[in-house]
Amino acid sequence: MTAPKYHLTSYGCQMNKLDSELVESKLRQRGYEPAVDEASADVVLLNTCSVRQHAEDRVWSRLGRLRVRKRSEPGLVVGVLGCMAEEHQRYMVARMPHIDLVVGPSAFGDIDTTVENARQKNLELAKVHQADPGRYPVAGAGLVAAGIGVSGDTIVRDVRVRPHKSQAFVSVMRGCNMPCTYCIVPTTRGDEVSRPIAQIVEEAERLCGDGVTEITLLGQTVNAYGRDLGPGITLAKLLRALHEIPSLRRLAFITSHPNFLSEELIVAIAELPKVARYLHLPVQSGSDRMLKAMRRGYTRERYLKRVEQLMQKAPDMELHSDFIVGYPGETVEDFDESASLMRQVGYAQSYIFQYSPRPGTVASSLVDDVPKEEKERRNQVLLAIQDELCAQKNRALLGTTQEVLVEGESPKDATRLTGRTVHHRIVHFDRPADGGLELVGRYVPVRIEQAMTHSLIGVRLSETDAEKGAFDRDEHGEGHSRSSHSHEPARASRATMP
Ligand code: SAM
Ligand code: SF4
Repeated sequence: MTAPKYHLTSYGCQMNKLDSELVESKLRQRGYEPAVDEASADVVLLNTCSVRQHAEDRVWSRLGRLRVRKRSEPGLVVGVLGCMAEEHQRYMVARMPHIDLVVGPSAFGDIDTTVENARQKNLELAKVHQADPGRYPVAGAGLVAAGIGVSGDTIVRDVRVRPHKSQAFVSVMRGCNMPCTYCIVPTTRGDEVSRPIAQIVEEAERLCGDGVTEITLLGQTVNAYGRDLGPGITLAKLLRALHEIPSLRRLAFITSHPNFLSEELIVAIAELPKVARYLHLPVQSGSDRMLKAMRRGYTRERYLKRVEQLMQKAPDMELHSDFIVGYPGETVEDFDESASLMRQVGYAQSYIFQYSPRPGTVASSLVDDVPKEEKERRNQVLLAIQDELCAQKNRALLGTTQEVLVEGESPKDATRLTGRTVHHRIVHFDRPADGGLELVGRYVPVRIEQAMTHSLIGVRLSETDAEKGAFDRDEHGEGHSRSSHSHEPARASRATMP
């Protein structure tokens, strides 16, 4: 008998992509195999996101298309996983009865059994409907597991199920306890729950034992890690414990909340050479009035103070941010403050979001009074400023040598390979004559020759060339003599100080 085939699509954040890897682990342990495409799958799963309405709309319309397919293939299993499952629960099946399963993150622990139950139920349904195809009402198994269940945290990760040979994400905590008025995450993901340090270290060791050298820790407020575990359990301690793994070379963590950027964490960032040189520290707005309305718990001044403290101890760090434009009541003056803050901090990267009211949040009871076109305009203004900052920062790297972790073929140009620096910047370089696929997963020195807005283009140096004197240079033109293949990551650029 051939193994049943699944096709799983992830929407939204990195946390969802990691959850999908865990779900895949479970399905493979159960004897399921990945399908080459959706059309050849017996089970189609969508791991969804609820953060903005647009993300939900895309899922609803894809589910509509799957209904058409299910008319002629009644055995097909259609499943909705993740945040939409948790948010809408039974309503999903009421609105679209062809959905076979609705499973929230709180019930991923036995997802394989839920999928298998739905498949068996559908095989029975298919027998009946084959006899009466014309009147088939496109019904699904209608299994709903959300709100309670066997948590995904119980899944023992199969470290071989991962998209990149040398890079992996590790979830260190789930949920969020913050009161941001616009955000649905605390509803869909529940309260903060941190995993014990020993469990995370054990998982990281297994990943590193299987060839991973770069780990990114995940949490909605990752720098609040451990506060539910007891006093003294902190992200800084976790970083120090992971830093001891000999074959680990880069250690990043996303996403940090400004309120938890502690002195202890700043010292750890400054002292630990394997910690990546970027910090995702979303500000959301530069206006105190908006920050208060959003209940972010800090002012512009306090945010800037924290950034300054970080830069004093770790001046080679770069900052990434998220901004929301068009929050209810945001005036042009408020928006201008976001634009000025963006320039003042000089972020290396920002995600800009147009405010989208989410059901059940505090902000959803406010009038969504910034017109769509004005939200779009504000979005474009911030994007243009951020592009200018990115281009400037990339130009400052011209002539430097960067240590690049090679990820694979460049998605837009098959003649090049692509990878990332320790600042998370994308670098492309020409493939060697033999295709260079053996370079994937390795750290190679690349001299930067062209600066684009969102990426850099360079020439790969031999390790001896890099050693001989291709020095990194900061934006003041001073050279560092750190060799590019040493165990310490090369740090060539400096973030603009606020
Ligand atoms: N936990 C992270 C934090 O607090 O920075 C981010 C989590 S959220 C999934 C990612 C980003 O989506 C947020 O930083 C925010 O900018 C944006 N976001 C969340 N809710 C939103 C909403 N209702 N409308 C627009 N953007 C939203
Ligand atoms: Fe949402 Fe705020 Fe929690 Fe981030 S910190 S997930 S924005 S509630």
